[in-house]
Amino acid sequence: AKEQGKNNYVVYKPTKDNRGIEHLTLESSLRKALQNEEFVVFYQPQFDSKTGTIIGAEALVRWNHPIIGLIPPGKFIPIAEETGLIVSIGDWVLRTACGQNKKWQEQGFPPIKVAVNLSSRQFLKQDLVQNIENVLFESKLDPKYLELEITESMTINVNYAVEVLGRLKNLGIQISIDDFGTGYSNLYYLKIFSIDTLKIDQSFIRDMMTDNNNADIVATIISMAHTLGLDVIAEGVETKEQMDFLNTLGCYGIQGYLFAPPLPAEKFETLLRKPTTK
Ligand code: C2E
Ligand code: CA
Ligand code: CA
Ligand code: CA
Repeated sequence: AKEQGKNNYVVYKPTKDNRGIEHLTLESSLRKALQNEEFVVFYQPQFDSKTGTIIGAEALVRWNHPIIGLIPPGKFIPIAEETGLIVSIGDWVLRTACGQNKKWQEQGFPPIKVAVNLSSRQFLKQDLVQNIENVLFESKLDPKYLELEITESMTINVNYAVEVLGRLKNLGIQISIDDFGTGYSNLYYLKIFSIDTLKIDQSFIRDMMTDNNNADIVATIISMAHTLGLDVIAEGVETKEQMDFLNTLGCYGIQGYLFAPPLPAEKFETLLRKPTTK
């Protein structure tokens, strides 16, 4: 193997092998989980601190394992990405989230948008746009209530990104850039990609009150978003101080534990039912 000649060959080999077996087991468990419908979608509210209302819900997948219980996405999404299973899982999340959002509207709740994370594997698939069109058709969800979250790294192939994002926009859905500020970004392209929303990565929010550099980055992203006519949402807002500071910078889109963690659909509903206050 490649490790030949490295001093640590003997030390590391068993670990690597174990990891291989673990991956294999996990991959086949993930396949079974899909068949047995063991995945669940949680919804985290996106809050407009200016109007005091819920404006959206981010769909976040969990694996409800029959023995282990709820497994967070960080534990299985990487393997799902590696194996390509993320395409089927992501597809299921999209269907579930669109169906749920339509259901809330039919129940008479004020309409909100649902934001669904797209993996680069899905983004690169030939049938992506057709597939999303089908899901919208089947769920009967008005496209303006669906938002897809992409990351900066997916836009590296500029020509491809312009084409696909253009076709997605033509469906009438919204596009946001997730984890903004952590990756490759070219301000010029934000405009031609016809992005609607920037989501400031939570790492900047976390240290914003103690780290001047991060506060400056956050302020810059917000003013840039405004200049470009984009909406902006701050992720990972955990304290009132963070929210107040964001408000002084003109950012009212808030997502984080301060308001609510990701919740099962029924719990999210109780938030929709409750008249929110500023
Ligand atoms: P993300 O898209 O950046 O999602 C935000 C993550 O931050 C969520 O973690 C959420 O629970 C967490 N979070 C929200 N508010 C706070 C806060 O105030 N403080 C802190 N510390 N964290 C907060 P979660 O649900 O564990 O998801 C982790 C990642 O897994 C997501 O990061 C996303 O990249 C991925 N993921 C989740 N669901 C899907 C999916 O359906 N498809 C794909 N492709 N990826 C998904
Ligand atoms: Ca996201
Ligand atoms: Ca994020
Ligand atoms: Ca992320």
